[in-house]
Amino acid sequence: MIIKSATYVTSSAKISQCPPPDMPEYAFIGRSNVGKSSLINMIVTKKGLAKISGTPGKTRTVNHFIINDSWYLVDLPGYGYARASQKQREEWSRLINTYVTKRENLISLFVLIDARHEPIASDLEFMEKMALNGVPFARVFTKADKAGQRETEKNLALHNKIMLERWESLPVTFVTSATKGKGRDELLDYISETMKFFKKEK
Ligand code: GDP
Repeated sequence: MIIKSATYVTSSAKISQCPPPDMPEYAFIGRSNVGKSSLINMIVTKKGLAKISGTPGKTRTVNHFIINDSWYLVDLPGYGYARASQKQREEWSRLINTYVTKRENLISLFVLIDARHEPIASDLEFMEKMALNGVPFARVFTKADKAGQRETEKNLALHNKIMLERWESLPVTFVTSATKGKGRDELLDYISETMKFFKKEK
């Protein structure tokens, strides 16, 4: 897929404020500082489209962008902020849960995981919750350039091992680097392919 246009649409604090579900949608989520903004900017090749945050935990809204006038890219608030209050975390968690389970045009949720780290409980728990709720998701390992090939492979194998203890199959998986542009073609191919499953309500 060639990216011809990427436009910011709106930021929603409630699901009812999101744009009408009239196009296929792909959402990005992950722990704060995982590299979400960098990955989104790399995919659409537009610096500053999704703000790269100096202060972790700033995004608290569901941010919609329209790509090529044909699909929505969604930047979701992260989970697992150490610095946020319990109340804030509960509010974000509610917003995310409502969004992923109710958004009818959501084709896939990309769950971002830092390739440098061994599996983290909050990532595994989040993916398990998605699977139990029937939310279609894919794993996206980030910062592969920082981790290096050997560490990335080791951490990915650990992730797979833990997931296969509880699940029969593994989710679709991408390995990316925002600085090197790695994984961009694979992600965009996957989006092109799965977009066909979108059915507009009549
Ligand atoms: P977010 O909080 O998840 O949106 O994370 P950001 O995109 O703001 O990135 C957090 C930090 O990681 C920033 O300093 C980025 O420059 C850096 N970063 C993000 N992705 C990559 C990557 O693929 N490679 C490298 N080397 N650094 C990255």
